[in-house]
Amino acid sequence: MGRITVLDQNMVNMIAAGEVIERPASVVKELMENSIDAGATSITVSIEDGGRRLISVADNGCGMDGEDLANAFEPHATSKVSNSSDLHTISTLGFRGEALASITSVSQVRAVSRTKDAAGGNCIEIDCGVKSGVSPCSGGVGTTIQVRDIFYKLPARRKFLRTANTEMSHISEQFTRIALANPEVAMILMHNGRELHRLDAGQPGETQRRRIGQLFSAEICNGLIEFQTNENRLSIRGLLGRPEIARSNNKFQYVFLNGRFIRDKFISHAIREAYRGTVEPDRFGVVFLFIRIPFEDVDVNVHPTKIEVRFYNSNLVHSQILAGLREKLLGTNLETVATIPSAAVRRDMGTARPPDGKIADAMAEFFKKHAPVRTQQRFSYRSAMAAAIPIERTPQLPVNVMQIHDSYIIAQTDDGFVIVDQHALHERILYEELSARVRKSKLESQRLLIPESFELTDAEANAVERHGDLIEKLGVELVPFGPRTMAVQAFPTLLGTAAPADFVRDLLGILTDKELTDDADRLLDAVLNMAACKAAIKAGQKLSLSEMEQLLTDRETTDYANRCPHGRPTIIKFTLGDLEKQFKRT
Ligand code: ADP
Ligand code: MG
Repeated sequence: MGRITVLDQNMVNMIAAGEVIERPASVVKELMENSIDAGATSITVSIEDGGRRLISVADNGCGMDGEDLANAFEPHATSKVSNSSDLHTISTLGFRGEALASITSVSQVRAVSRTKDAAGGNCIEIDCGVKSGVSPCSGGVGTTIQVRDIFYKLPARRKFLRTANTEMSHISEQFTRIALANPEVAMILMHNGRELHRLDAGQPGETQRRRIGQLFSAEICNGLIEFQTNENRLSIRGLLGRPEIARSNNKFQYVFLNGRFIRDKFISHAIREAYRGTVEPDRFGVVFLFIRIPFEDVDVNVHPTKIEVRFYNSNLVHSQILAGLREKLLGTNLETVATIPSAAVRRDMGTARPPDGKIADAMAEFFKKHAPVRTQQRFSYRSAMAAAIPIERTPQLPVNVMQIHDSYIIAQTDDGFVIVDQHALHERILYEELSARVRKSKLESQRLLIPESFELTDAEANAVERHGDLIEKLGVELVPFGPRTMAVQAFPTLLGTAAPADFVRDLLGILTDKELTDDADRLLDAVLNMAACKAAIKAGQKLSLSEMEQLLTDRETTDYANRCPHGRPTIIKFTLGDLEKQFKRT
């Protein structure tokens, strides 16, 4: 007798459920999406025990009649597509007709539904794929689906569930994604009878900012810059976090495509590139992006939970997002605004916290009114795009200047004072200067009186050979000096303060870094960063008045002077208004 049997439909569903239903949060996502597709304007999600005991989703959508209720839980049962051409223009969140069948194959389900015109509702119960008949029951217009004891017949999968708290955090994340994408729908999330979120319905067309404010902290909400572009069939609305609220991971990067939360490596890359130089390399900008694209320009049928999609023109999507974000970020005044008073001072004074962002808004307003904004077009090697972006400058020249702790410069300005991090600012100035010169030709160099020798490994010797052009452009001249030894014979004048052999050792470290050598732009960026850092004035270094003034003057003509090349701020501003507030003069 053969060993092969054809599995019955229930087994097929159970196996398929593994793809769609990973944990309670997957059930929440599928049910909420069905409610959105049903046109609901209000959705209530109630969870017990992290979703293990109960997941209930109630909506006021179009509902189902008795016949549809009987069919909805069959595999491949859907009202959203009917022929193959529909697959090219999917406008609903669901279309695979799999979710309800998958959920009911691994749990106990009770569904109640009523359509608008019906006198009463109907209900159905399904226990791990075994269906009862449809029977009439009472209930309002819409659908309520209750899912109990998920995976109870699959002990291996049930064991895989984490603590109620962990499962709840996954549920909350799914809820948040759907809530962000649908700000006009009222939503409630309850856990064990406790209300976690109550989101009222926004006006149609209202921006997502309000919802972000309800779901996230005031710090995030106030640190967002809005932008919008509409080109090449692609419309993007975005809320971009200012660099100071950047995070250590990309969990606060929410990307929605046609109302669906997605993860896309091209888009993530574009976001990263857009923030490059404005945040430190290991930080991630907070981003909410709402992208709309014609349905036929994207394939959403490539992943069981549709979290990944395939763009027909992913290069265009990448470049348009990168250009849009970068333009907005560089065109915005991203100077760090002092958030005084500090927590400790506030406690001492017993004052209420000034609302976040108020100072920033007031300052922006002030500069708009009083400052004749000078704009300048400069070429930056980072991307030709940046060339077209006017760079805002603060037209304030120092009056009184002093250094404190041999590390910071304090300078009076027209309407207050600034504190400058001398190393960070000098680093940026050198970086821009170096990159402008290297782009144009090469750095000027000076012969060393006594060549400095250093030993090198085979890999480093290879790197010297392979990157000969770059080394030459940097104005570094290396000559063989014996077995596995070379000497620095000439060194760039601009880096005069750095120790030549020490510099070359760091340079070789970068030139042998496999992660960098594939990308000429990143490699050069890393080299220039290192060079600027090595040659810049250090913290703890005493400066003369004229040196300080020079630094502040150079700042006026340097691009991106408000951030060091690693993305840290170089300057913090205080206005007289801030001081007056602190001294309770206002
Ligand atoms: P899909 O969403 O891919 O069509 P589902 O298995 O999630 O597949 O749902 C099957 C069908 O059941 C849907 O196409 C829809 O017609 C109906 N349905 C599911 N949930 C609801 C709901 N909350 N309100 C109205 N109809 C629903
Ligand atoms: Mg569905």
